[in-house]
Amino acid sequence: MPGKEYQCKDCGRAFLVYEEEKRGPKCPSCEGGNVARKEAQPLPEWLLQLKNKTGSS
Ligand SMILES: [Zn+2]
Repeated sequence: MPGKEYQCKDCGRAFLVYEEEKRGPKCPSCEGGNVARKEAQPLPEWLLQLKNKTGSS
């Protein structure tokens, strides 16, 4: 199971958290607690098409 993606609101650093912490995750860059959960997004369609093209050779 992949980690949950968070992003720091202070410095913009995105990072993964694999374990739930009671106090919530901290930014590994600035160690700030002002982080927000990023929504899991599916791969964009242009990227899927790119993969299909490159994978068929
Ligand atoms: Zn930060």
